[in-house]
Amino acid sequence: MSVQKKETYHFQSEVKQLLHLMIHSLYSNKEIFLRELISNASDAIDKLRFKSISSPELYKNDIEMNIQISVNKAQRALIINDNGIGMTRQDTIDNLGTIAKSGTKEFIHSLKNENNDKNTLIGEFGVGFYSSFIVSNKVSVKTRYANSDISKGVLWESSGEGEYSIKNIIKKNIGTEITLYLKEEEEEFLDTWRIKSIISKYSDHIMIPIKIQIYDEKNKTYSWEQINTAKALWTLNKSSITEKEYKDFYKHLTNDQNNPLTWSHNRVEGKQEYISLLFIPEKADWDIWNRDNKHGLKLYVKRVYIMDNSHEFLPNYLRFIRGLIDSNDLPLNVSREILQDNRITRNLKQALIKKSLNMLEKLAKNNTEKYQTFWNQFGLIFKEGPAEDNKNINKIANLLRFASTKNKNSEQTLSLQEYISTMHEKQEKIYYITADSYISAKNSPHLELFNKKDINVLLLSDRIDEWMMNYLVEFEGKKFQSISKEDISLNALAEEKKINNHELKTEIIDFLKKAKNILKNDVKEVRLTNRLTETPCMVISDSNEMTTQMAKLFSAAGQTVPEIKYIFEINPEHNLIKKICSIKDEDQFKKWIYLLLDQSLLSEKGTLKNPHKFIARMNQLLMQ
Ligand code: ADP
Ligand code: MG
Repeated sequence: MSVQKKETYHFQSEVKQLLHLMIHSLYSNKEIFLRELISNASDAIDKLRFKSISSPELYKNDIEMNIQISVNKAQRALIINDNGIGMTRQDTIDNLGTIAKSGTKEFIHSLKNENNDKNTLIGEFGVGFYSSFIVSNKVSVKTRYANSDISKGVLWESSGEGEYSIKNIIKKNIGTEITLYLKEEEEEFLDTWRIKSIISKYSDHIMIPIKIQIYDEKNKTYSWEQINTAKALWTLNKSSITEKEYKDFYKHLTNDQNNPLTWSHNRVEGKQEYISLLFIPEKADWDIWNRDNKHGLKLYVKRVYIMDNSHEFLPNYLRFIRGLIDSNDLPLNVSREILQDNRITRNLKQALIKKSLNMLEKLAKNNTEKYQTFWNQFGLIFKEGPAEDNKNINKIANLLRFASTKNKNSEQTLSLQEYISTMHEKQEKIYYITADSYISAKNSPHLELFNKKDINVLLLSDRIDEWMMNYLVEFEGKKFQSISKEDISLNALAEEKKINNHELKTEIIDFLKKAKNILKNDVKEVRLTNRLTETPCMVISDSNEMTTQMAKLFSAAGQTVPEIKYIFEINPEHNLIKKICSIKDEDQFKKWIYLLLDQSLLSEKGTLKNPHKFIARMNQLLMQ
């Protein structure tokens, strides 16, 4: 046998940074290193179990898959051993020497932020292995990949200071054995009681037996004692599971240290057979807005772990839901490709959507405060629902929450049902306005009539809102209507205050005629309105034109949009209009008309095609 050479490598620079930060910021809760190492061992065993479905030779039934913990007091060493999938030489370089995940920078950034709970972050970002250096001077990893030869063992060692070494060794068993050479002041982690209590605190729900080696002083013998209960919580009867057990299980499943807001646990028998356990988190995942965010449920088939993040079971707009599905109908050798195009998956998806929406309905009904937490965290994602899932659009619409003119602040709390129940007797439609921000929606001149009539208007200012409103056509028989678009129902509302024709002085008629002539290439129409009180004029879109917000969305997405031709509406009651009526000088009049139009466009769009012209014109008129 040839002498195996030891090779030294440098950690990727992010790892170095991370190690440094971790060692210096996590001292207050060091014990979590054990949770991380056990979670890795459990993952490794899950992976081997899964692999052995297609390669049965990998898993001999007579060997129990377990995690063993032992101590060597003389060497101040804590040893965590698993008989899982193990690692090849290259695996150790890839997994223990680099951080492959894209979010590392953000992670380091958030660790530096004093306000963040560091322990929570470590778990969420899944950089668990390195936490072993918080308590150790040196870490040794002996590992062998499942179907490799006995001589293909690897010894990986590091003191966590920039370098690690790798050497090929002979390893009798497959799997991974991690030895932590504890720092002098960390001796407490050699104590059996201490270890047991940490494990029952964090890892009771690990489904793989975790055993600790006990030394019997009297008989001078060693034995293994199982620490955790190792039961699949979701297979148990609902009534036998406590709230705390659900919460602990959620934390174990997701690495989220917050409690879930609510959950839904179902066992279904009959045509489809499955168990699902779905949770709504209390806080959005740090990378939920990432395009490649790995959302999805943990998939089990007949209690066997198959994969994480199987997103085929939930639509995008429910991607904040965490949990698991355990199917009796899918084959054990199911792959992502099979999942993608499969009748069973499709049926499960429909069923899980129902379960999720029901869970949200229940939360909204029973706990408004929690529902509001949900909405504030995930409302933006949920708003993708109407576009993505037309089949369930009524249920989805019922779960939406809005800001509105009758609510003092920008918080989105109003449901459509509440809106309808407080509708004005003459009101036929659900009115809304979309704008860039809450402030600009709230102050839009389009609202004047509605405020006067005390009619509530939904204020929509999230980027997705305009797009969502394209899919929301009606709710409980009431149509949605943008108030910045022309509509007969609006005129009906304003009708009481008819513009009395005989009162319409010739001056106003003349004004309209001249304005139409001046603006004939700029607007679709110039006409009088009785919807305004405070404002002299405004523009609205024709009912079959694109709205301003929609045009903005398109152009933000890089598409060319034809310029919108607005309808220009004049408030004949306004003093400024009355004053302009009396201007005889044609050039002067023209300047005023353009100033009025630009004002209206500015208020509608927030920008002007030529702001300099507008300013110059205004200054000239101011100087007079
Ligand atoms: P994560 O578990 O989130 O992937 P970790 O830092 O905890 O991050 O682990 C990094 C990687 O190292 C794991 O993804 C896995 O590939 C590998 N690894 C760690 N511990 C073991 C183990 N006991 N057996 C096999 N592979 C392991
Ligand atoms: Mg891990």
